[in-house]
Amino acid sequence: MDDSPNPSILLVEDDANVLTLLRTCLERNGYEVSTAGTLAEARRRLERSDDCGLVILDRRLPDGDGASLCPVIRATQPHSYILMLTGESTPEAKIEGFESGVDDYVTKPFEIDELLARIRAGMRIVELQKELLASSRRYEALSLTDSLTSLRNRRAFDQEFASRFEQARRYARPLSLVIVDLDYFKSINDQFGHSAGDGVLRGVAQILDHGTRRSDFVARIGGEEFAVLLPETSLFEALHFAEKIRATIMNSTIRTAAATHQVTVSIGVANVPHSAVTTPQSLFDAADQALYRAKARGRNRIESERRKVPIREALGDVSRRQLTM
Ligand code: GH3
Ligand code: MG
Ligand code: MG
Ligand code: MG
Repeated sequence: MDDSPNPSILLVEDDANVLTLLRTCLERNGYEVSTAGTLAEARRRLERSDDCGLVILDRRLPDGDGASLCPVIRATQPHSYILMLTGESTPEAKIEGFESGVDDYVTKPFEIDELLARIRAGMRIVELQKELLASSRRYEALSLTDSLTSLRNRRAFDQEFASRFEQARRYARPLSLVIVDLDYFKSINDQFGHSAGDGVLRGVAQILDHGTRRSDFVARIGGEEFAVLLPETSLFEALHFAEKIRATIMNSTIRTAAATHQVTVSIGVANVPHSAVTTPQSLFDAADQALYRAKARGRNRIESERRKVPIREALGDVSRRQLTM
């Protein structure tokens, strides 16, 4: 059985006779009908309802011109279809109606069968718009997700990083960036095959995901490279966080069909505010250089950006971030 809700119509009409006639007729034809007799009431309904497929709009209403409702409808119900039903039948009035944003225009007195046919045509467009909107949302989500690990991907990271960096800069709040790279990952692929390597990446992604808060942002930014953005987090706190991650990964066993794996990671950490860091790129470079040093100094370790200021001054309020995972 089809359990999708009936298509809904908002009927804005101040003439009680027309209202009753239309309402009965629309309900008999399977539509869910809500009504409003004034502009103010229509506004309230539009703001409250999250799905109003089609709006039948009278022009002359006690508190103003029905056409003035069009922008409100477009803002609150982007996919809805507006059918103007009015006694104003001059070509000028019709043109004005279309200019104000209506999709169809029917003059009173009207033929009910023709009106119903126009409503069905309008509803077909509403359905198409809804499908389009839903699929564009799905594609948007897909284009920001890494299909292997289900973490956010590089594209999502770049967007988020730019906006969080700007926020931190504007409000002079701390923001830390942690870059995590698997050590000798190539040897896992070489030894156990690519799909075992994929399984290990998924395992590490899960550890990162579980080890972070909802307000943090975790992404897979490269083959075996992950980034974590920690808002409101000083360098000192970020180093604690990185250490937790490093130790958790080192002490975990990740099972794949091929084997049970133990891996380690190297981590680079950088933070703002910092006098030398004025762009997201320079914060990223600082974390990346730190990661490079962690690799060079033997791997399975954490390095942070080099600071000209004494490290004590770089440390912020530790109490903000509870160092638990
Ligand atoms: P290092 O300790 O210096 O980081 O060495 P590494 O072997 O981890 O780094 P390297 O850059 O030499 O190799 C990274 C490897 O990651 C090579 C590449 O084949 C593999 N890789 C990249 N993306 C994927 C992926 O999606 N799946 C799998 N299985 N492997 C990947
Ligand atoms: Mg009227
Ligand atoms: Mg690596
Ligand atoms: Mg790498």
